[in-house]
Amino acid sequence: MYPIWTLGLYVRNIVLNSLSRGLNLRRLILVLAFSTTLITFLNSYYSSYQVQKQQLIDKTLNNHKAYAAKLVSATDNFLLTAQQQLAYVGKILEDDFNNQGLINSEADRLRLQTNSFNSTIIVNAQGDILGVSPKSLKLQNRKVDSFGTKAALSYRTPMISEPYISMAGNLLIFMSQPLFDKQSNFIGYIGGTLYLKRASILNELLQVHYYQDGSYLYVVDENHRLLYHPDKSRIGEQVFDNQVIEEVLKGNAGTQLVTNSKGVEMLAGYAPMTVAPWGVVTQRPLESTLAPLDDLMWQVFIKTAPIGVLTFILIWVLARLIAQPLRQLAETANTLDRPSTSLELTQIRSWYFESNELRKAMLKGVGLLQSKIGLLRQEAQTDPLTCLHNRRSLDMQISHLIAQRCPFAVLAIDIDHFKRVNDEFGHDIGDVVLQSLAKILLDVTRDSDVVARTGGEEFIVIMPRVEAKRAYQLAERLRMRVSESYIDPVGCINVSIGISGWPIEQLSIDEVFKLADQALYQAKKTGRNRSVVDATYSQDLAPVSEPSILE
Ligand code: GH3
Ligand code: MG
Ligand code: MG
Repeated sequence: MYPIWTLGLYVRNIVLNSLSRGLNLRRLILVLAFSTTLITFLNSYYSSYQVQKQQLIDKTLNNHKAYAAKLVSATDNFLLTAQQQLAYVGKILEDDFNNQGLINSEADRLRLQTNSFNSTIIVNAQGDILGVSPKSLKLQNRKVDSFGTKAALSYRTPMISEPYISMAGNLLIFMSQPLFDKQSNFIGYIGGTLYLKRASILNELLQVHYYQDGSYLYVVDENHRLLYHPDKSRIGEQVFDNQVIEEVLKGNAGTQLVTNSKGVEMLAGYAPMTVAPWGVVTQRPLESTLAPLDDLMWQVFIKTAPIGVLTFILIWVLARLIAQPLRQLAETANTLDRPSTSLELTQIRSWYFESNELRKAMLKGVGLLQSKIGLLRQEAQTDPLTCLHNRRSLDMQISHLIAQRCPFAVLAIDIDHFKRVNDEFGHDIGDVVLQSLAKILLDVTRDSDVVARTGGEEFIVIMPRVEAKRAYQLAERLRMRVSESYIDPVGCINVSIGISGWPIEQLSIDEVFKLADQALYQAKKTGRNRSVVDATYSQDLAPVSEPSILE
């Protein structure tokens, strides 16, 4: 039972762990499937135990019933034979009852030749003992004085007495055959004793069948008295309140589970005798009958345990396989906004229908969500009119460059006299001009440059890895391109550009922007349609001796 107990503990631990750590599908499947398997296993084990037990009990009961019947027939036969021997010798004596020599020799012959009786006795009608064998009993010429011998005198029929203690002090039963003369007058009887506690043919007959496996038999007479019992000290004892004895003395044969006088449960078979009003009971302790069952059930357990363990492992593996995709899907569901989610979802092995459908639905949802997020992100970073970077996006790009310690030039661009455009052509045309300028800026700059609209008609261009001189050249190229581009219906416009860059000395990025604004202001002040490099910037890097540079 130890391994079952261990398995029980294991299941209990799984359940407790699941409860303390929170339930999940794998544990639920595991607990459900495992407990079902265990219950089925225990149930079949228990029913198998019950069936085997009942079979053993039934078999033992039937064996003992058959055995009791066999003993009854053997004992009946013995008593009949003994009675016939008495009758045979009686016939011889009836013919010559006054012959003392014959009496003596027949008493001896009956005892010694037949070996049926422990002692023999020949008595006349007055109760005088005419002959006795063995002589050592010293009963010759005495009057009968015991229960059996006196009963034989008065009943005058073939008789088997109840057990009693003889004149010589032996517990015995007495069998007798009456003797009659030719005129049918009762002239006496011949009798023989069977010792109950000492060696006798009856004891020998019954003792042969005494088992070593705890089985034993006993014989009771009509007065509930034990005539035979393996425990000799109990012979002669009267036993009441025993269901088996009650039944057998009613003349019934059968089987029964009884508790004996020592409180031990016994499987008993019993049968009544026909020659004498006795009953024979043979029985075996229930415990010794069922002893082989423990070994048998252990064998059953050993044989079924590997299958049980394999089943458990199979369930465990299956539980993992079933739960894994769902678990991964559940974990991924927590991070749907991550860009890697779609890839993670495609890598989940959804090997069965439900999880696959779930995964497909999640992939679809994630696709929608991420395109929406992308759209929102783009909207949040884009200027709606020109589709250029807005201020926020520009700041992000700059932070990125600064984090990488990547130097860059800053071009602050402002349209000259833009108010006039609005005034002359209207605000919508002004917007068209802004969009056209955005296109020109994108066209002229490199892909690695960042072009942003930071105010109404103000633009910033960030040029990574461009120093002051080159920045000025590029700004000029840009300015020229703008001034050469015809924008319908406005015509050509001009821009002024202030140039600064990062890093300059220890200045912050805000200060760098301020310098670019100042340079732009200078460009406006000095006539517009020009580029001005901030002096600190140009000194800090390479000196540029362009005439339009801020003095
Ligand atoms: P300056 O040469 O000194 O820059 O002269 P300016 O007229 O361009 O003056 P300023 O830069 O101060 O003028 C900005 C004008 O830009 C004011 C406003 O009418 C116009 N503006 C600002 N945002 C928009 C916009 O989104 N659309 C249009 N159409 N016009 C705008
Ligand atoms: Mg302006
Ligand atoms: Mg302007």
